[in-house]
Amino acid sequence: MNLLPKEFDAIEIEKKWQKKWEEMGIYRFDRKDTKRLIFSIDTPPPYPSGEFHMGNVLNWTYFDIVARYKRMRGYNVYFPQGWDCHGLGIEVQVEKENNLRKREIPPDKFRKLCEKLVEKYIAMMKEGVIRLGCSVDWTTEYRTMDPDYWRRTQLSFIILYNKGFMYQGTHPVNWCPRCETAIADAEVDYEEREGTLHYIKFPLENGHDYLLIATTRPEFIPACVAVAVNPMDDRFKNYVGRKIIVPIVNRTVEIIPDENVDPSFGTGVVMICTYGDKEDVKTVIKHKLPVITILTENGKINENGAKYAGLTISEAKEAIVKDIEAAGLLQKTEKIQQEIGVCDRCETPVEILERKQWFMKTRILTDKVEKTANEIAWYPDYMKTRLVDWARSLDWDWVISRQRVFGTPIPIWYCKNCGEIIVAKEEWVPIDPKLEKPRIDKCPRCAGREFTPERDVFDTWMDSSISCAVHAGWPDREDWRRLFPADLHPSGIDIIRTWAYYLMVRHLALFDEKPYKSCLINGMVLGSDGRKMSKSLKNYVAAPEVLDKYGTDAARQWAAAGGATGSDIPFRWPDVEYGRRFLTKLWNAARFVSTQLKDYDAGGKCELQLLDKWVLGKAEKLTQKVTDALEKCQFNIAIEDLRNFTWHIFCDQYIEAVKDRLYKPELYGEETRRGVQFTLYTVLHRIIQLLAPITPHITEEIYQTMYAEDIGQKTLQLAPWPKPDLRKIDEEAEKKGELVMAVITEIRREKAEKRKPLNAPIKRVKIYAGNSKFASIISENKEDIVGTCKISQLEILSEKGGGRKVQEVPEISFISEY
Ligand SMILES: [Zn+2]
Ligand SMILES: [Zn+2]
Repeated sequence: MNLLPKEFDAIEIEKKWQKKWEEMGIYRFDRKDTKRLIFSIDTPPPYPSGEFHMGNVLNWTYFDIVARYKRMRGYNVYFPQGWDCHGLGIEVQVEKENNLRKREIPPDKFRKLCEKLVEKYIAMMKEGVIRLGCSVDWTTEYRTMDPDYWRRTQLSFIILYNKGFMYQGTHPVNWCPRCETAIADAEVDYEEREGTLHYIKFPLENGHDYLLIATTRPEFIPACVAVAVNPMDDRFKNYVGRKIIVPIVNRTVEIIPDENVDPSFGTGVVMICTYGDKEDVKTVIKHKLPVITILTENGKINENGAKYAGLTISEAKEAIVKDIEAAGLLQKTEKIQQEIGVCDRCETPVEILERKQWFMKTRILTDKVEKTANEIAWYPDYMKTRLVDWARSLDWDWVISRQRVFGTPIPIWYCKNCGEIIVAKEEWVPIDPKLEKPRIDKCPRCAGREFTPERDVFDTWMDSSISCAVHAGWPDREDWRRLFPADLHPSGIDIIRTWAYYLMVRHLALFDEKPYKSCLINGMVLGSDGRKMSKSLKNYVAAPEVLDKYGTDAARQWAAAGGATGSDIPFRWPDVEYGRRFLTKLWNAARFVSTQLKDYDAGGKCELQLLDKWVLGKAEKLTQKVTDALEKCQFNIAIEDLRNFTWHIFCDQYIEAVKDRLYKPELYGEETRRGVQFTLYTVLHRIIQLLAPITPHITEEIYQTMYAEDIGQKTLQLAPWPKPDLRKIDEEAEKKGELVMAVITEIRREKAEKRKPLNAPIKRVKIYAGNSKFASIISENKEDIVGTCKISQLEILSEKGGGRKVQEVPEISFISEY
């Protein structure tokens, strides 16, 4: 066996193996292989933000552990990697970096700027994925901004259009006035902000009386289409059906009854505007009220706002409040805390606008989503309710069109003459309707020959929500069903409502089949202050900083050990440091083993002593526990068991207790020494096998230096996963071993408390074993106790006695004399 060097340079080793593994091509999926079972991972194509952050580290570590584990279990693992390029985030960043708005330059120029930025960001993130040691098959890399990917997104749209799932309609949608686009419910974040409640008098028609209305949005007064009260509210029920005058614009509207009005909020009288909030949308539909749109797409008041036209929302609010006050109609104002919806890309408050949009009928699938969610394995199990609750909470269908530039074009034209919708044929895609005409001579309805292209693009989730089928090879490979549904879909808890949900509805609609068989959820990364990690909270730690300082195998231990799967994981430097210390401990132990096994002859006769059997049995039990934990994606249990066993049982207890037998074969016999060598060889090998999915680099280095020549597998990563050999567990030996270890540990503890070095000799020790059974076990293993603790004279008595009690077995006590 080769000697492991003294120096342990984690960073150097990690770089070396990342490069070698790639050269060896060990992560390539083998499509021609029909023997091994396939395990396919629906790797998230990350949105290129330009940074591989600690949340990504957590996410990728989880499923890379699974990928490596499954490979060792003999699966043909498919681990693709793509990049989800389109979207608002990139456009917003391009606008910021170039100090322009998208409408100021031609769309193709703007798109080029976006592509350039995305390429830069992808390069940065790819480096992060590689440095984390992720076992990605890079031959599968793809970008959703490439026309070849558009083809798939457009094809899936056409199929769903023909199946009746896609429709165009004028419905109120969430609108970001800064980004000037529709956004889906899932893209709206909710924030607590301070607002002002204005108490405004609305005069009744034909009278001197008025009703008081409390509103936080007086700027919507010009869009008021009704005033509502709760019909059960005695204060106001007599007003139902009467007319009331909207101040400022002096229009008359009706007072309508609506049981959704909360009598305890404000004054119990509310104005219904188009649209102040989602409640207004419901009320307008229910009572068939007219719609007065007063906002433009960039968040200004339009001509329907009369004298306020051209003002921004906040300018209009100020002006209207002033005018109401001047008219003597403002009774009072008060501050309130309110929850408002903001755009998740730019934090601008979201408005509700009506505009022609494309939708996918998602709500008709809700029962199916629930049924399918129940058929899928969730890690952890309780996460499935998040998906089901979200699906059940949706008020609107999914708005899939976006008024942006950087997105997959919607393959649609409209007849200029009659408005007929012309959908691209499946064989036309990829196609950009803005650059190409439909490949037909004339409109099928009116024979018109001129067409206008759809200028909107798809929501970026339209690209990524077919990943399970695309990864499998749809629509090009005939055998794509071999890899579909994906075996594992990994997702952050924050994108269950988007990614996990959209994947589900799209694949159910397209193929009437679930997209994935299991779903692995990771929580959020918290800062050391317990709040969500974010740059604005100043608790942010950059992933490269962590990887540079302690290396990948330490960072991966942090991710695996940080908490139960699915729970939020705090980032704490001491946790990564601990991971690094563990690696050093493992390295030193392995180096020790390599120095003791230089002359190891595996074929030689060996004799196992009690402590050898004890630790071998424990290694088998560990194998069982780690295997069970990895099967259930309980990474924290796997790594904690491994670290405890390696650090405390193998290094601190076993190795310390057998050093004497190793060093003095003349005293204990060559066969006994060989027994220790066999045990060291076997247990260390088992440890690195079990650790290989979590800390792949250090284990590979140890394997290649010490074991590869002997075992012959070209990499530990493809070596078979160990099966726990339960026959090797000798319960009797384990119990006895435990007792002997307890005695040794207590004597060493006493030494430490007396501030003596662990190899300090002890003149005499008298052990009171408490009973004859214990006495005989201790006597049989006297040599290990004497040798480990450097005792010159050991006396063992079977009776109970005084002195220091052994913590783990309090019946036993001892008196020592230095
Ligand atoms: Zn926005
Ligand atoms: Zn026509």
